[in-house]
This record gives sequence, structure tokens and C-alpha cells, in this order.
Amino acid sequence: MLAVDAHTHLYSGLAPLGMPAPEPPPENFLQILGRLWWRLDRCLDERSLAASAEFYASEALALGCFGLVDHHESPSFVDGSLDVLADACQAAGLRAVLCYGATERNGSRAEAKAGLAECDRFLRENRRPLVRGAVGLHASFTVSDETIREAAALARDHGSVLHVHVAEDAADVADARRRGYAGVVDRLDRLGALVPGSILAHGVHLAADEVARVGDAGCWLVQNPRSNHGNRVGYPKALRHSARVALGTDGYPADMAEEQRVLLAAAEEHGDDPGHARRRPAAGERLLAERFGEPFGEADRAAWERAREGAAPCRAAVRERAVVEAERLWRRMRELPR
Ligand SMILES: [Zn+2]
Repeated sequence: MLAVDAHTHLYSGLAPLGMPAPEPPPENFLQILGRLWWRLDRCLDERSLAASAEFYASEALALGCFGLVDHHESPSFVDGSLDVLADACQAAGLRAVLCYGATERNGSRAEAKAGLAECDRFLRENRRPLVRGAVGLHASFTVSDETIREAAALARDHGSVLHVHVAEDAADVADARRRGYAGVVDRLDRLGALVPGSILAHGVHLAADEVARVGDAGCWLVQNPRSNHGNRVGYPKALRHSARVALGTDGYPADMAEEQRVLLAAAEEHGDDPGHARRRPAAGERLLAERFGEPFGEADRAAWERAREGAAPCRAAVRERAVVEAERLWRRMRELPR
């Protein structure tokens, strides 16, 4: 089995290097986003993003990760941002599927259109052998119906897929209902956005029939046990109703052995089907292979192992560069108006 991180965020790669705690301390999921991650991503520029991606990729390789599926946002540096991530992954020898998560959360449809344009540009231009593109939406609750329809059309035009956060918190479900849908899956489905092969991260607050509907459409769900525990959003017990469920780290370091350990402990604690939970780590390889169009073989594994050996002596230097950029990024975060 090749270790694949099926949902993560390279943009948060510097977080382990002393990211300041959110103030005041958040009491719920939306406050965690607003006071921490949505401040961090607004402060990212090309230099800090490059250092973040380089550090995350370097550590992922050292941790035994073969490939990852990234979901990116840097609202102050959109155009060209996916190239920065792609160069870091290609140079490291790490396979990656990249998208920009279009959103309207900082203002308008124009913001969403810029995000989708970056996905479109990257899907047209990227020729890196180890990297593929996808079309991203941040989450159902931060986008309009029009943006969802456009994202789905873009994915289909490119023969690609969508990557979106789904029902991570109950607030996402409540938002879809306020808009007149039965839930987030119903909304995506009725807007034509369950594009086969698409990647739906989390699904914590989905019911059994919604998970089955996602699986029947040929889409993936990705569980992120450490993140779900850390954000106190709940345990995704209904995921056992689809065979297409993989494992991600949602921005935590790509330590898939640790993620699997937390998954199995959480599955037991919540009375989940242990056999089903045990199949999720291996599913990431299938998910990634779908995006590359063929299964990975011995030559792919051998190339990855050579990349790991080659990168090992550079690990300390990469970390040193990341520490410098992290300090600059934390300064920008502290100076950002609340
Ligand atoms: Zn995420």
C-alpha cells in the first residue's frame, strides 16, 4: 500500500513552526475558521506560500507519504498560486492533485470567479509529470448556486473533478437547508456537482442515504480524524455506507500512520465498523491513481524512493528557510485588522 494523504492544505505547512494562537479563543468551528485559518490564508504571499509548500512536501516525504490531494486558498495571491504548490511537489518528487478552493466568503462572486479562473488556468497549462489539477470549492456554505454550477461545468469541461469541504460542521448543513435543499449532498447533486471521481472532504454530518448517494455517483469521501477531533465537529459515523472513503490529514502533517492510529481509536470509541475503517487508508492510493489515469507500479514506487533518499540531506535546510518565512507570516497575521 502506498501512503496517500487524500485531503490536506499545503498552505498551512508553516503552522507547526509557532503559529500564534487565535484570539480570543474560538468556541466553535466557524470561529476557528474566522480567527485562525482565514486570517492565515489572507496573509500568504508568494514567498511564504512557497516556503510552506516546500516544508510540508519535504516533511511528507520524510514521513513516508507517496502523494497528496491538496485544497488551496490564498486570497491575497490567487493567480499563479497553484504553480507555486506544483513546483514544490514536483521538485520534492511527491505526487499531488491541486485545486484552488473558490469561495465568496470575503465578499463577492468576483472572488469565486478568480478562484475558478486559477483552476482553469492550471488545468490548461500544467505539464508537470507528478502533478494533476482539479476544480475546488471551499464549501457549500460559502458559495452561491451559480458558483457551484460553474465549478461543476469547469470540471466536466476539463475531464477533471471537484474537491470541496462537505458537512464538516452542522453549520454547512443548516446553510443548505436555508437555501431550500434537503442538505449539502442534495444541493450539490441538484446543481450537477456530483461529478464522478470528485473528492468530498469530511462528511461528518451526513446521513447514511447521503453517503450512499455520494458513493453511487462515483465520488469519494475523505475522513480526517485528527482534524475532526481537534475542531470538535463530531465523528462521521455514516461513512461506512460507501466503499469510496479515503483518509486525509486536513493540514496536519502528512503522517498517515498516525492518522490511521487515530482513525482506528476513534472508530472503536464511536462504535464504527472496524473492518470498514481499516480499508480507508489504502483507498487513498485508488483515489490518487484515478486522477493520474492508471494504477501506480513498481517504477513509480522506485522513483519515489529515490526522491526520498535524495531529499533527506536537504531536510534541515528546508526547515531553516521555513522558520524564517514563518516568523514573517506570524508578524503579518498579528498586524491584520480583526
Ligand atoms: Zn480541509
